[in-house]
Amino acid sequence: MSALPPRLADPARRPATAPPTTAPDTGCPLTDAFGRQVRYLRLSVTDRCDLRCVYCMAARPVFMPRDQILTIEELARLAGIFMANGVRRIRLTGGEPLVRRGVMTLIERLGAAVGDGRLDELTLTTNGTRLGVHAADLAAAGIRRVNVSLDSLNPDTFHRLTRGGRLDGVLDGLDRAQAAGLHVKINAVALAGVIEREVDGLIRFAHGRGMDLTLIEVMPLGETGHDRRTQFLSLDHLRDDLATRWTLTSLPDRTAGPARYLRVAETGGRLGLITPLSHRFCEHCDRVRVSAAGRLYTCLGHDGAVDLAPALRAGAPDATEALIRQTLRLKPQGHDFAITRDAAHGIGRTMAALGG
Ligand code: SAM
Ligand code: SF4
Repeated sequence: MSALPPRLADPARRPATAPPTTAPDTGCPLTDAFGRQVRYLRLSVTDRCDLRCVYCMAARPVFMPRDQILTIEELARLAGIFMANGVRRIRLTGGEPLVRRGVMTLIERLGAAVGDGRLDELTLTTNGTRLGVHAADLAAAGIRRVNVSLDSLNPDTFHRLTRGGRLDGVLDGLDRAQAAGLHVKINAVALAGVIEREVDGLIRFAHGRGMDLTLIEVMPLGETGHDRRTQFLSLDHLRDDLATRWTLTSLPDRTAGPARYLRVAETGGRLGLITPLSHRFCEHCDRVRVSAAGRLYTCLGHDGAVDLAPALRAGAPDATEALIRQTLRLKPQGHDFAITRDAAHGIGRTMAALGG
């Protein structure tokens, strides 16, 4: 078989492994059949967004019916059930979480849980467009870290990639977030044909401001009107290219998340690589995701979900909790998407529909 071109990932599909019949007793109520303890919830507060990134959603996306979206009160109750079952970290996401009306009320309630020790950490992933408005309130509410998605420092390229976004608003948001004392990490999607031109500037920019930069391989999630095979660039390939200009050293640092880190000697900063296509990282996965409609997904790379909304809306916390625990038993061993020369094996829903 001929070698794949460097931009395409060999899927190296995971052999199907049957889960053990009994879960190990780890003392964590949310332990899956492989013994992985789930302590981390990514909670989407909306599937709406004020941008239309070309790798994330279609130019005219179909959003969830409004009446399906959980209220702020329901989101807070649901988060409370997860916290009562061992979840220690919550990341709010979307869509764009800061476009959700009432989101600050939710953040204040969950921030209080950080204050009284029920949560270790509350974080947020945002596109940064409204960070300028909210940064001080986020810090006051107990958020210490935010991830800001930023794929280009060129205003025209940013405008094109986001289908209409304005870079200066995001840069202002970054200034205000740092001024408010928030730790900011920049996330950039490694979009082929773009990241090669942008990456050096992003490294200098992020590290010059004391921020980590993490690059993420494009994942085949949802229809965006673009062929994933032309969007995908292997980070193994990009790393080799970076190594011709930068002195990179692998770091042992591993957060609970999927990133591997490099030190860039010239800047002293950290560069994270998230490589779901080139390398698997599922064996330590400690997270689940809940959509804004209350659907529980135990894996980003599988379509299977369980709807928690009926039990939650019926005011039945015990039934909701029982559903969560049952669903956890079905958490797959790993994701199953891939991008090859011939096809992209993906998932129907977008990242924005579930929460990145
Ligand atoms: N709107 C917020 C933002 O952009 O940060 C939060 C939601 S967004 C869906 C979360 C993250 O998912 C962003 O960093 C975005 O770049 C990333 N993302 C979206 N679609 C993706 C895809 N198909 N492959 C890889 N990353 C993707
Ligand atoms: Fe919106 Fe974030 Fe998706 Fe971009 S990546 S369209 S900002 S949800």
